[in-house]
Amino acid sequence: AAKGAGGGAIRAFAPDRDAARRARRALEADLRQALANREFTLAFQPLVDTRRVAITGFEALLRWHHPGRGAVSPADFVPLAEEIGLIGEIGNWVLGEACAQAARWPGDFTVAVNLSPAQFGLMDVVSSADEALARSGLGAARLELEITETVLLDDGEHMLEILHALRARGIRIAMDDFGTGHSSLSYLRRFPFDKIKIDQSFVRDMATRPDCITIVRSMAALGASLGMTTTAEGVETPEQFAQLQAAGCDQAQGYLFGRPQPPAQMSFALGADWASRGVAAA
Ligand code: C2E
Ligand code: MG
Ligand code: MG
Ligand code: MG
Repeated sequence: AAKGAGGGAIRAFAPDRDAARRARRALEADLRQALANREFTLAFQPLVDTRRVAITGFEALLRWHHPGRGAVSPADFVPLAEEIGLIGEIGNWVLGEACAQAARWPGDFTVAVNLSPAQFGLMDVVSSADEALARSGLGAARLELEITETVLLDDGEHMLEILHALRARGIRIAMDDFGTGHSSLSYLRRFPFDKIKIDQSFVRDMATRPDCITIVRSMAALGASLGMTTTAEGVETPEQFAQLQAAGCDQAQGYLFGRPQPPAQMSFALGADWASRGVAAA
């Protein structure tokens, strides 16, 4: 009887697994066509100077508009694109498009582009950045590249060379999702980042966990003493923003100041209603 039940369980489970595998293969096939079909766009989210409460730049966030499924989250398709080796081509497009958009903005706003670890193996990041800057006419100082610390895990020496080459051009390097990895501090020592982006998990828990305020304050102090800019991610409330100002964070990014927007809907100044919403310059 036990054997029968086990067999039944397997029979009940297997079609599900097959279906999941088929769905993944279908998504994979669609992803391979997405660039050619022009299904990718970029959305831009503002980064705000906490002292002046003014926009200093934008982060480019990749969006995939699937013809049948609608919007697919980068959290779902970026890992897939990495696995099947497509993230090089896609990342090349992102760099070109982000720089082209930024060159049209009314002012010297910076543009931040995310690079996932696999991209360093699949594309020549330095040439790709050079080409994107040359084609758009954007100054290198306006381009910022966001990498997660896992980038430095694989081939540390090679990666350091690439990062130094980018930095020598005046491109800024930010460590994304700071504090979520295993050796954030040792990476800060090995490579001179221009910016650390404090992961949104710390910001989210500030209201309920005093230790998170202490951690954020320490990260801001660490960044300042190393000459790095600190940006807090995922800022959603005026209370969080006030705490970040008090903690000495240089920049804030989050739904409080704007969701990622397509180029046509971007605004380059914060609305006039900030004071009434409990946000004030420091
Ligand atoms: P990330 O670089 O850490 O980007 C921040 C994510 O937080 C974005 O999610 C953004 O929409 C979201 N976010 C911003 N403000 C708030 C807030 O106030 N509250 C909450 N809960 N979330 C907020 P998104 O756009 O879904 O992107 C997810 C991740 O996908 C990014 O994390 C990045 O790692 C990756 N990604 C996005 N675009 C690209 C790209 O062009 N290339 C690569 N390699 N990765 C990308
Ligand atoms: Mg990022
Ligand atoms: Mg992040
Ligand atoms: Mg992230």
